[in-house]
Amino acid sequence: DSTTVLIVGAGPAGLVLGNLLKAAGVDCLILERQSRAYVERRARAGFLAANTVRILEENGLAAGLLRDGRQHDTCLFRSEHAEFELKYSGLGRGEVHTVYPQQDLVRDLIAEFLDRGGELRFETAVAEVNDIGSDRPWIVCRNADGELQRWNGRYVAGCDGRHGVSRQAVPVGAVRQYRRDHGISWLALLAEAPQSMAAVAYAIHDEGFAGHMARSASVTRYYLQCARGEDPQGWSDRRIWDELQLRMQADRYGPLHQGPILERRVVDMASHVMDPIQYGRLFLVGDAASLISPSAAKGANLAVMEAEILAKALIADLRDDDERPLARYSEDCLPRIWRAQEFSHWMINLLHGPAGNDDEAVFLRALQRARLESLRNSRRHQDHFAENYVGI
Ligand code: FAD
Repeated sequence: DSTTVLIVGAGPAGLVLGNLLKAAGVDCLILERQSRAYVERRARAGFLAANTVRILEENGLAAGLLRDGRQHDTCLFRSEHAEFELKYSGLGRGEVHTVYPQQDLVRDLIAEFLDRGGELRFETAVAEVNDIGSDRPWIVCRNADGELQRWNGRYVAGCDGRHGVSRQAVPVGAVRQYRRDHGISWLALLAEAPQSMAAVAYAIHDEGFAGHMARSASVTRYYLQCARGEDPQGWSDRRIWDELQLRMQADRYGPLHQGPILERRVVDMASHVMDPIQYGRLFLVGDAASLISPSAAKGANLAVMEAEILAKALIADLRDDDERPLARYSEDCLPRIWRAQEFSHWMINLLHGPAGNDDEAVFLRALQRARLESLRNSRRHQDHFAENYVGI
């Protein structure tokens, strides 16, 4: 069988791309390894940048988030020395976030894609991506019954996330790989409890970082820095709440709203960028192209931004016979990817100090304090922060 654009993966990247192509009358097929129920319940991100909301609105994909999303404009920093708030709607470019759980966005994007007559096969795992250096690339996938099927296309969009197969099709040595393991891990938690503060909260503590982020009226995401290789099941609900209360200084600033922990998993802070993010007829989008640590909540926003750039480029090529935007896809995306990586890396250094009392650890913790102080006191610094925190 054949189609024009083969899209591997139905996350934010693949679904935004599919919707934009379908609206322009470009044939495409989305193949997704998981079931529909699974991807519509997979809780991950929740903070949508202004640019993401613009893309979704301009393309008729924002009805759900405009109805149920909540505007968010303040973050709070807490350390043993001080607590301060930054209302970023009044800083930088004055942009705000919209809080809307990623699984709800995925659900909306699937419904819209199917409404537009799009073809989406769930429980169909792509096993091979072949001949991307030719003008007839093809893939092999396995459906829910275990049958192998071959699909031909003119282009392949690799939107299959951090563990996907698409990028493995790029010949070794053809692209440069930049990787960094930040050596830090977070216990990522979802609590069935309303948010405890009206703002995103970042707590910097000798025991390690703790974070608080709204998701919905009844669910809140928390993060706790933990040791690498930690077993999340070793963290009972009691231990989690005790540790959150300690690091968030509940005795000083007020208790947290507690509830059952719905999900606990360990996320290692790692970054990975490919350059270029295209090879022949294969274009990588979202986490498949660049993995970013969740410290600045950029991953889903980058995925949507790249999907829009690729959709426009494919439409220019297929409809207007203009190959130039496709040829510059990597060039258009990579500066923004690196900008987000730089900010995310800066956030990692803001939020985590090294443990121990050797000279280097003590020195680095003093730098961390200075960084936080300049964010508290310098308007220029705050403007820069706001621009990068909400911007892409
Ligand atoms: P994905 O959402 O990973 O989608 C890829 C899809 O491809 C998946 O559905 C997968 O099942 C499918 N797939 C994989 N392999 C195959 C195959 N062989 N064949 C077919 N299908 C395949 N980002 C933010 O912006 N803000 C946040 O606050 C935030 N918090 C996060 C918290 C956690 C705990 C995690 C894990 C991530 C968080 N992120 C956040 C990151 C964000 O979720 C990702 O960056 C985003 O999902 C990337 O979208 P994507 O479409 O590129 O990839």
